[in-house]
Amino acid sequence: MAQCAYHDQLINIRRELHQFPEEGWTEFCTTAYIVKYLRELGYEVLLGEKVVSRKDCLGRDPKLVAQAIETAKERGVCECLLNEMQELTGCCAVLDTGRPGPTVALRFDIDCNNVQESGADTHRATAEGWASKRPGLMHACGHDSHISSGLAVARWVMDHKDELNGKLKIVFQPAEEGVRGAAAVAASGIVDDCDFFLSSHIAMMAKTGEIITSPVGFLCTTKYDITFKGRPAHAGIEPNAGRNALAAACHCVTQLLGIPRHGSGMTRVNVGRIVAGEGRNVIPVNAKLVMEVRGETGDINKFMATETENIVQGVAKSFGVEYNIEKMGEAVDLFNDKELVDMLDDVCSKTEGVTKVLHEVNFGGSEDATILARRVQEKGGKAAYFVLGSDRAGGHHTAEFDIDESSLDIGMKIYAEMLKRLMK
Ligand SMILES: [Zn+2]
Repeated sequence: MAQCAYHDQLINIRRELHQFPEEGWTEFCTTAYIVKYLRELGYEVLLGEKVVSRKDCLGRDPKLVAQAIETAKERGVCECLLNEMQELTGCCAVLDTGRPGPTVALRFDIDCNNVQESGADTHRATAEGWASKRPGLMHACGHDSHISSGLAVARWVMDHKDELNGKLKIVFQPAEEGVRGAAAVAASGIVDDCDFFLSSHIAMMAKTGEIITSPVGFLCTTKYDITFKGRPAHAGIEPNAGRNALAAACHCVTQLLGIPRHGSGMTRVNVGRIVAGEGRNVIPVNAKLVMEVRGETGDINKFMATETENIVQGVAKSFGVEYNIEKMGEAVDLFNDKELVDMLDDVCSKTEGVTKVLHEVNFGGSEDATILARRVQEKGGKAAYFVLGSDRAGGHHTAEFDIDESSLDIGMKIYAEMLKRLMK
């Protein structure tokens, strides 16, 4: 397969970013890298609250944010750029061709996972010396390649801007992991004027050469952090004076796992972490649950979320403890518009390197691009999300994860051809 003209940069930028992964809402160095690249190309780049609505950020830890800003300063990110970011990561490149035409938005996510990268010689990034330099953090979902793809597309657009009409917005979205970032980006209004919205994910269940142009089964999801606050007491002398947050949390977990399955479609519930208690002879004061629900449709997910809230309230009442429920992330389901699926099908069938165009393959997970797609559709625009197949080493979110970088050439060609047709 012939490599595209942007092959080297697709790979080099991916490997460079791979070495300094940043988790959701802390992508200051990554954002600085992207902004610098885009401005050198001549883009107007929007930052801070123009792209991310502060009050709609989910699961954003101010302590991690503050640390990350210090790290960015130490790594030489200039203060003026950090000021422009207003403590918010992500950005949006805007190009107005000056000619009438549609407004098109592309979205690429930029955060990493809380995964320790494999140190084994059989892991390519380690063997070749471009593994993560940050303990416990790794681009283990391929978002490094999403960024390099977004930047390569940005360069292609500048190289071909005389052939394009209308307006283009390239959104680099923070905090996809935990589906935390898109709601705030949507709430900023940045995609409200868009006629078309396109986004994609690398690999997942598709191999190099395969493109899934209409994945289905995106689960709606809501993520919660739940805390219980009790009252301490001596466990021997006066246990009756205490209010046991640990016991409340345990009862809460068993009840959550007992939410009935829904007759209308798939549901999921998971409590992934519980932290509680202070010491052996103290009635536990604090307890925290980190959990999520999912549902095949918005209504089914709402059922799961409402049941969760009822259980938390009920348990808190019965144990006499206080509670707090904080929403940490959310995603909705997704329905690709036929017009874009047809266009993708046609483009893919003519793209060198594409061997199979697949439909209706179950995505089986959640993805917050769906919130942006929904927002565009609600305002009358059209949206599509596709999976760019890539042979994988390791599973997504595991220490051995890697992609087949030759698939990036295919993705690049698809984005370029789609833009040519959309911005005619
Ligand atoms: Zn991902």
